[in-house]
Amino acid sequence: MKKRVKTRKVSGVESVEPAITPLADAPLIPRVSKLPPIGAPRLDIPEGLWTKCPKCNELLYDKYLDDNLKVCMHCSYHFPFSARERINSLVETCSFEETNADLQSIDILSFKGPSNYTEKIKQNQEKTGLRDAVVTGVGDIGPHRVALAVMDFKFLGGSMGSVVGEKITRLVEEATDRNLPVIIFAASGGARMYEGMFSLMQMAKTSAALAFHAKAQLPYISVLTNPTTAGVMASFASLGDVIIAEPRAMIGFAGPRVIQSTTHQELPSDFQTSEFLLDHGLIDLILDRNEMKRTLISLLGYMSRAKNRF
Ligand SMILES: [Zn+2]
Repeated sequence: MKKRVKTRKVSGVESVEPAITPLADAPLIPRVSKLPPIGAPRLDIPEGLWTKCPKCNELLYDKYLDDNLKVCMHCSYHFPFSARERINSLVETCSFEETNADLQSIDILSFKGPSNYTEKIKQNQEKTGLRDAVVTGVGDIGPHRVALAVMDFKFLGGSMGSVVGEKITRLVEEATDRNLPVIIFAASGGARMYEGMFSLMQMAKTSAALAFHAKAQLPYISVLTNPTTAGVMASFASLGDVIIAEPRAMIGFAGPRVIQSTTHQELPSDFQTSEFLLDHGLIDLILDRNEMKRTLISLLGYMSRAKNRF
């Protein structure tokens, strides 16, 4: 076996001398770099004006980033998008009528844990300005009237508790009654642990409402955004007649570590991404956020001509 020799750089010249061990009583002098590394952003940039892209490291002017629906102009990285921003980017001005906006979760299990559920709900309401992790309503996308539900990952990880399930179910039932197509934008870490079995029940409830909607031969388009996982992916998010995903979104049921330890197999590097699932037939389309509205109008137009309704 080859013996490894420690080397160190001196003034750009590669030394082959073994590293000298300092004497035990020698003072340790930390190396302090006086200059910032080349390419580092200036430190005097005012906050709230620029955002650094986590993928390509470019600095993006916030106004241009907002105009581009929070998609990086250099590498197409999709920044998180709130439910309100998403609705504004899709529906025609003043056409959106929110439904069941006053529904709010209660601590039905008197949850005991590291944090208090009622307190958590309050904090998340203040942080996001939402009552719970989904906004539902009826609005116009182009010439089409649609029932729209948009989840917000910032509210308790977009988790599905009884309010999220109830709001989606009521929306789908209203769409069935009024002959409207349904579009749901999912963004979720799964069921809400604070509500235990009550949150798991929402999987069956939302799926049943969508089954009645499908029986009425009305279309349902599911859009998966980053991330869509666990109980939400295992219920309404994977039931769309057309399933669309945003680029490089994380989509799956169990986490990759759980799957790897169960199957004892090496997982591909792009496992549980939109691109991987498109290749394997789970989703139909990957769409950039900027193309979403145009494509939804075109899909709804195609489906309405096929059915000659809504
Ligand atoms: Zn970028």
